[in-house]
Amino acid sequence: VSPDPRLEVLPRFEVRSISAATENSLVTGSFSEVKDIAVDKRGWLFVSEDESSIADVVTLDGNVAGLCVPNWAMTAHVHRGATLPWLDGLWQAADLAFLLDRTKEWQRVEYRATDAVVFTQVTLRCAKCGLVADPATWESSACAKCSGPLAKTEVSGWQEASFALESNQRFVEIRSGHWDHDPCLICNVNLGRDSPWGYRESSFAGGPNSVGLWLCEKCFERYLEPDDFGFLVGS
Ligand SMILES: [Zn+2]
Ligand SMILES: [Zn+2]
Repeated sequence: VSPDPRLEVLPRFEVRSISAATENSLVTGSFSEVKDIAVDKRGWLFVSEDESSIADVVTLDGNVAGLCVPNWAMTAHVHRGATLPWLDGLWQAADLAFLLDRTKEWQRVEYRATDAVVFTQVTLRCAKCGLVADPATWESSACAKCSGPLAKTEVSGWQEASFALESNQRFVEIRSGHWDHDPCLICNVNLGRDSPWGYRESSFAGGPNSVGLWLCEKCFERYLEPDDFGFLVGS
């Protein structure tokens, strides 16, 4: 598979060797450039929505780096001699794959506020360290992390009203028109509050606001329309 030319803006990582341990693999190799790369940075060896590998930079000497990749994230694409685009962990591989997909049709839409539902949810929280206990472990009376005492607390939350509540969530009220903004994926401008029009992929246009991606008009015209993916590296 030849890499998408639109991804030439990204640094590339060439795999030299792989050593697998119980949970992680150490993937060593070299970056084509290291301007925004540092130890402890997280990113993706990008392939596609499902086949990208999340990785942490653990060593960096010049452009030679060691990446720690959890074994569950290893794929056949990561092999000796492979060269893969490196996507900064600020981005989701799935979102990039969506933006690259030429079968998607984007539509200019006006942001319309929708109703929000307020709910409460009972959780067990450690009184000492604040850890929220997994409901599966509610039988035990002590925190799994620090053995502190668990206390029942009711937390409230809200979501777009078109989605059903979970069985452990209790309806409080509907707030009309309360879901009134979502961020542009690229520049974070608030669509709905700061900018009334945006772009959505047509299968999401007209649906709930809180699913799928939003792009503001500026970013759509600056980046997506001319196929310029420079925003991935801040240009
Ligand atoms: Zn605790
Ligand atoms: Zn934008």
